[in-house]
Amino acid sequence: MEETRLLGTLKEYFGYDSFRPLQKKIINAVFEGKDNLVIMPTGGGKSICYQLPAILLPQITLVISPLIALMKDQVDGLTANGVAAAYLNSSQQEAEQQAIFQKIGKNELKLLYIAPESLQFVDKILANGKVSLIAIDEAHCISSWGHDFRPAYTQLGYLKNRYPNTPVIALTATADKATRNDICRQLNIPLAKKHVASFDRANLSLEVRPGVKRFEQIASFIQNRKKESGIIYCLSRKTTEELAAKLKAKGFKAEAYHAGLKHEERMSIQDGFINDENQIICATIAFGMGIDKSNIRWVIHYNMPKNLEGYYQEIGRAGRDGLPSDTLLFHSYADVVQLQKFASNAANEEIQLAKLERMKQYSEALTCRRKILLNYFGEHKQEDCGNCDICKNPPEFFDGTVIAQKALSCIYRLKGAEPVTTLIDVLRGSQNEAVLSKNYQQLPTYGVGSELSWHHWQQYILQLINLGYAEIAFHKNNHLQLTKAAKKILFEGEKVHLAQAPDRKILRQDSAES
Ligand code: ADP
Ligand code: ZN
Repeated sequence: MEETRLLGTLKEYFGYDSFRPLQKKIINAVFEGKDNLVIMPTGGGKSICYQLPAILLPQITLVISPLIALMKDQVDGLTANGVAAAYLNSSQQEAEQQAIFQKIGKNELKLLYIAPESLQFVDKILANGKVSLIAIDEAHCISSWGHDFRPAYTQLGYLKNRYPNTPVIALTATADKATRNDICRQLNIPLAKKHVASFDRANLSLEVRPGVKRFEQIASFIQNRKKESGIIYCLSRKTTEELAAKLKAKGFKAEAYHAGLKHEERMSIQDGFINDENQIICATIAFGMGIDKSNIRWVIHYNMPKNLEGYYQEIGRAGRDGLPSDTLLFHSYADVVQLQKFASNAANEEIQLAKLERMKQYSEALTCRRKILLNYFGEHKQEDCGNCDICKNPPEFFDGTVIAQKALSCIYRLKGAEPVTTLIDVLRGSQNEAVLSKNYQQLPTYGVGSELSWHHWQQYILQLINLGYAEIAFHKNNHLQLTKAAKKILFEGEKVHLAQAPDRKILRQDSAES
């Protein structure tokens, strides 16, 4: 396809003057009839890679899309730009569907968005060869190795058999290698050309803080950002509602959003956010897919996400306009335990636990966070980013041998039969139920660590776990146990260097919020 024709179409239907990196290459590969796998971060500009060819190709383009809400938005947008597009899903009336079938029969549609479940209806009308292009959006949903597996997607492999001469373009923002290969295998496009865009979103600052006094921290975070839109992601519906209520009580314009709300309610909250009437959305991960708002200035994770794919996708909703935007993740031990429980009931338990472990390592990292993230997505960077909390405030190391000795000998005294929380209570000489009910106040290590805050202990113990001196027995009530290496510190005079726990004022609180 000639360049001028492509640029003309881009300008006419989308209003843009130039393609983004990769878009042109991908579009050309589509016109050459190749199968393609497109891996681009959220906001990278995936849609144009199939929408623009669809406009120019002679027959219809089928777009498989997992979410009804997303389809409708896309179709509304296209129609408004003069592109003949429609969608089919189970929420429609029979008459509405018939009208669309007729248009398909007369080749009057350029794009048809369909849920994977509704494919068979369309299939009946379309003879082989009557489809110019098949686009599979959110293609990672086909893989149980990905983070958002949808069983209905697994049937999509048959499309290549049904339309062997029609090019397939699969698109996703999930980049890990195993998932990529699995997508191509399951879609029967083993020779697909892989286009991997850079995942580096340098305009997003990255910050992780311990999840203590989260509400106070959030309130002061947004106090300085009064006119800026942002999203706070929470694990449960209940938390979204409680948080929104507390923020409202403080005078912020905040709304809760989750899958339990009525459709109209969700739409109106979403619209209010897009139009800058609601400043803050407290949401479960149900919120955000397909939301096209370029000036989201910050994203907070109230709870830890299950994996780095989800995390990166969610923070990626901030700063799509390329302007500096801030992200903040609260890291909490309780969240990790909760997520471990979810993962251990899942069909692909092992993969989920491993992904969660990577998430945890990221939040506890003492080196440039962006390097860790990009590394996870297969992109290797030499330079530190300068825009994450570690780069801005590199930890200082100190001789933590005495701290380590105190903690490890206390684990030993507790016979490896207590969780981190009780260990800290004993070290700090707390007089609570967990301690007194078992007479731990009589242990020689009781109160030997009262000079450090609860939070500092938590930080140092996590480091000791990361360094391999202690481990959490996940299958034994998360009890903290010594490893063989602990002996070296306790008996053989080995020294330990610990990173200074951040000494932010807010962290000096003695209690941890659950
Ligand atoms: P994705 O599906 O990868 O998350 P989108 O296709 O929704 O991303 O595109 C993200 C944003 O970038 C949209 O607002 C889109 O209109 C815009 N965009 C895409 N391609 C271009 C381009 N070539 N020039 C300018 N803006 C673009
Ligand atoms: Zn960095």
